[in-house]
Amino acid sequence: MAVNFRLPGPTPLPPAVLAAMQRPMIPHRGPAAKALMASVFNRARQVHRTDGDLLIWPGSGSAGWEAAIVNLLAPGDEVLAVVAGDFGDRFAAVGVAFGLTVHRLDIPWGQSPTPELVDEALRANQGVKAVFLTHNETSTGVTIPMAAISAVVHDHAALVIVDAVSSAGGLPLEMDEWGLDFVFSGSQKAWMCPPGLLIAAVGPRAWDAIPTDGFRRFFWDFRTAKKFADQGMTPATQPLTLLYAFDAALDLILTEGVDEVWARHARLGELTRAGVKSLGLQLFADEAYGSNTVTAFEVPDGLRAQQILAHMRERHEIELQGGQAEYADTVVRIGHMGWAFEPDLQAVLDGLAETVPALMMARV
Ligand SMILES: *Cc1c(COP(=O)(O)O)cnc(C)c1O
Repeated sequence: MAVNFRLPGPTPLPPAVLAAMQRPMIPHRGPAAKALMASVFNRARQVHRTDGDLLIWPGSGSAGWEAAIVNLLAPGDEVLAVVAGDFGDRFAAVGVAFGLTVHRLDIPWGQSPTPELVDEALRANQGVKAVFLTHNETSTGVTIPMAAISAVVHDHAALVIVDAVSSAGGLPLEMDEWGLDFVFSGSQKAWMCPPGLLIAAVGPRAWDAIPTDGFRRFFWDFRTAKKFADQGMTPATQPLTLLYAFDAALDLILTEGVDEVWARHARLGELTRAGVKSLGLQLFADEAYGSNTVTAFEVPDGLRAQQILAHMRERHEIELQGGQAEYADTVVRIGHMGWAFEPDLQAVLDGLAETVPALMMARV
């Protein structure tokens, strides 16, 4: 039996993605590489629902925080970091590391920021140039109301910078319609590829915002990346094998249809949340904002997340993940993004239906 790999990243690789990675190397500045890049850029643009620029670097999702800051801001600039979990907290920390003046809007973990709260925070901090948002907080299983929050941020003439690492490719993400200025993600989440690509979309307001007195930068420079992207290249040697994988994943997404992919994730989210609740387990996230790519539940009193993970692995060949930061051993997370279908999640729920009572019994 194959392992049912249900981490909220990395995620399982579809057979077509695995197969694509067997392709041999091609000249990285030759016509085949340019055709591959053009295919990837154009189709990734479609999934982001943007006519703007798409840029790709070798890197993990975390590089997106730094890329956004060093291109769009200048030392000392004021930003608002909306923090509702571990990833939001890391985004804020990167801002601090670069010497930005970071105002935090802290939301209790498991809850979502609202447009009203963001508006209030921006009224209190009139000098804010950009707002750092985590579209889908992977540590808590919360998806924020992105379109409405983006509208509020623009009312305050600030940039909308979006960590979409665990949403892009899985959740509705209307970059142009929602007015998102910079959106980045990593290949190993809903894109169902191996880790290693930073995928970023840059809107017109972001291009205009690039300061002349900004940070020094080289590898992550947007203008250099665009110059090459426009010719079907990246500034350095492309991570060709990962691009083969990404191209194959985009085939799958566009063949299924972007709206269909989003609808499938919505069904998986509903199935998982309903199933978890029917087992008597408590969802960690406010259900009104429950994520359709990852579900977190609270570990019942007297148990530890590590026990559940170990039992699920050993008895059911299912890989789940614990919580993050102070919730490492009190929360369990189920990934349902990318290459995920109803039977995979039903198997997780069946496994939990055996595991949790068995561990509770063993405890007494
Ligand atoms: C996974 C994740 C990251 C970090 O991505 P890495 O590829 O591990 O660097 C950042 N933000 C969110 C929301 C994530 O889910």
